[in-house]
Amino acid sequence: ANDKDSKTISGKRSSHPKQATKPESSVSSSDPSESGSTSSSSDEKPSDTRIPKLLKHLPKGVDAHAAQQIVNEIVVQGDIVHWADIAGLDIAKDALKETVVYPFLRPDLFSGLREPARGMLLFGPPGTGKTMLARAVATESRSTFFAISASSLTSKFLGESEKLVRALFALARALAPSIIFVDEIDSLLSARSGSGEHEATRRIKTEFLIQWSDLAKAAAGRETGGGSGEKERGDASRVLVLAATNMPWAIDEAARRRFVRRQYIPLPEDHVRATQLRTLLSHQKHSLTDDDLKVLVRLTDGFSGSDITALAKDAAMGPLRSLGEKLLHMSPEDIRPIQFEDFEASLVNIRPSVSQQGLKEYEQWAKEYGERG
Ligand code: ADP
Repeated sequence: ANDKDSKTISGKRSSHPKQATKPESSVSSSDPSESGSTSSSSDEKPSDTRIPKLLKHLPKGVDAHAAQQIVNEIVVQGDIVHWADIAGLDIAKDALKETVVYPFLRPDLFSGLREPARGMLLFGPPGTGKTMLARAVATESRSTFFAISASSLTSKFLGESEKLVRALFALARALAPSIIFVDEIDSLLSARSGSGEHEATRRIKTEFLIQWSDLAKAAAGRETGGGSGEKERGDASRVLVLAATNMPWAIDEAARRRFVRRQYIPLPEDHVRATQLRTLLSHQKHSLTDDDLKVLVRLTDGFSGSDITALAKDAAMGPLRSLGEKLLHMSPEDIRPIQFEDFEASLVNIRPSVSQQGLKEYEQWAKEYGERG
């Protein structure tokens, strides 16, 4: 979901109908309530020095071309996301800390009954911060982050996808701790009828499930055949498949059960929208009062985080729109502040991307199969 990040795989289906690409959060909040984070979404992670060595000495059975492709397009090494960049979602953040971050940082404390889950599903309406959460998990657990959209596996990489899936899991183990983030997981693990399912898609799905099972077996020390040494096992226990979907009901039952944890990522509540709006406006010249913000929070009921970002971006254009070409000759100080009326005008065009009916379906699925977030 990060358009600035050229290393993230391309060809991702945009889940926001009004935007060709998802907006990147360009501001970082410095909310003091978010502990343990020096928030900045612009800091760069240094590139991983293990990678060139690994590419020279690939694990057995890993295709060199596929491995290179993973490194080029799927390992995310660009700018990073911290917890504090994400408004709200405290329950989801806590669940992710317990499931991934702490076990990755202190594997010695998380064995036996505390053995961490091998898979976690984030589900909910589009644009609610699922991708941001996954990226923050990778940052905070100091993991290598592999980001792939399942739809690109079944389209862009079709034909070489099985090799790619094998290389993906092998590299994740070699570069552990690792997060394999699969967006749009529904398009890979959907419950399509056997005959209607594309043969190649079915093979990728099978390969993915095999690799994922092997990972769990290796982590538990039950791996058969080669590569079941101590080191291999330790690596496998610090690889997690984190998946996101806007269509949880499309995932077939067997695949669903493999996600031991299923976390609902809901639309933002009032106070979360207020926080996000404040953050977005914090570095801008604006004249909105606290009362204006309260009204705005009411008017944006039903908006997702990405709808809010889109709205704020559109409203921020307000002061420039009336100027036309004149803006080319004006100094920044002469541009008027963003005002409440700009938001009012933008609200005519920027509407919530999730319908009430759609929301009910998520709530229902969450009640049946998920954990509340
Ligand atoms: P999803 O993966 O759930 O579809 P993303 O994490 O890609 O959504 O979010 C898309 C964009 O929407 C982000 O880049 C960010 O600008 C904004 N956004 C969504 N949720 C939040 C949030 N909780 N806090 C801050 N920004 C958010």
